[in-house]
Amino acid sequence: MTEEGLRRATARVNLSAIERNCGRLCSELRSGAELCAVVKADGYGHGAVPAARAALAGGARWLAVADAAEVTELRAAGLTDRRVLVTGALSDAERAEALAGGGELVVWSEDGLRDVLAAGGGRVHVKLDSGMGRLGTREVGQATRVVRAARGLEGIELAGVMTHFATADELEDGGFFAAQLATFTQWARELKAEEPALLAHAANSAAMLRDAASQFDMVRCGVAIYGMDPFGQDPGERGLEPALELSSYVAEVKLCAAGESVGYGRRFVAEHATFIGVVPIGYGDGWRRQLTNNADVLVGGRRHPLVGTVSMDSITIDLGPGEDALMARGERAILLGFQGSERLTAEEVAHRLDTINYEITCGLTPRVPRVYHRDGEATTVASAPAGAADGAGSPAPTRG
Ligand SMILES: *Cc1c(COP(=O)(O)O)cnc(C)c1O
Repeated sequence: MTEEGLRRATARVNLSAIERNCGRLCSELRSGAELCAVVKADGYGHGAVPAARAALAGGARWLAVADAAEVTELRAAGLTDRRVLVTGALSDAERAEALAGGGELVVWSEDGLRDVLAAGGGRVHVKLDSGMGRLGTREVGQATRVVRAARGLEGIELAGVMTHFATADELEDGGFFAAQLATFTQWARELKAEEPALLAHAANSAAMLRDAASQFDMVRCGVAIYGMDPFGQDPGERGLEPALELSSYVAEVKLCAAGESVGYGRRFVAEHATFIGVVPIGYGDGWRRQLTNNADVLVGGRRHPLVGTVSMDSITIDLGPGEDALMARGERAILLGFQGSERLTAEEVAHRLDTINYEITCGLTPRVPRVYHRDGEATTVASAPAGAADGAGSPAPTRG
């Protein structure tokens, strides 16, 4: 890894890892199925544009986002030649913006088709709600009517049919995933009998890894392309490589005598004299306050417990009673990533917080610069447009 010098809370993103994760996912696809890389929420915190470019280099054919501004961001960065699916709910103004950017929208009613026409027309994917209970229609008959209506409307292009799974990541789901899959399979089969080329898609990362029958013509993978495990397990077991390393450094080391405390609310009181390291990262960076007395940080290749309250701008770690702790001043501190043989994953942190890995990387705030590299080689992220290239070390473009 190129050393740019120490920085406070920084996310280093290995674009080669994203590329390899996509290659790995593509190698599991049934023949004819394509990978759509989901880069919503700023690429799950990794940076939407660099993540999209890396995913495409790794074999993804499509991109997906959740909202209109995300379409605009990709297009403005020069990603103009790829189809972009917009999966989320859109207001009228957002619908017009998404369509202007060539985004492909999700519809499930005749009214929805009219809204698309009113906003300028474009490509649509008809969504059957096979059990998620959010967007889409639960009525197969209605979904089929919308498909037929879309075919007949000037200004509308029927681009695909889709559904979304509620429990793909829960292996003990009482057969719910299988039931959703059966419902969609049946519907897609009927429609494909009329139009064999119709694009059907259903799977997220968990579904595609769980059951190849869910892949249809395209899979929409987010979490796995970033090297996180959709089942919350060790990503390495599925050949996925975490792309994001979160680091900071030990800014200060000082002795905390027995009985003395550290941080707001005195949530850590030393039983024995010990050295405390102060690391500049906090909940203002997305390192959540619930990690108070409940996380490890790697310094010098070893785990050290986070002790005391997570503050907005800093945390404190217990470096132990040995005088050698004083040597840690100025050392890199890893919050997510590898050091020596030790490793901290988003899955571990999520488990401690009783949440999912997605929320860990999505929760990193704009204050954390995203620095891009390829297996340690500094990289220029954007090839276009001229003048907008990000040098390694510069923060990712962020949207408000
Ligand atoms: C976010 C999202 C995905 C990607 O899900 P992962 O679990 O991150 O792979 C796929 N489809 C839809 C509709 C989504 O909203």
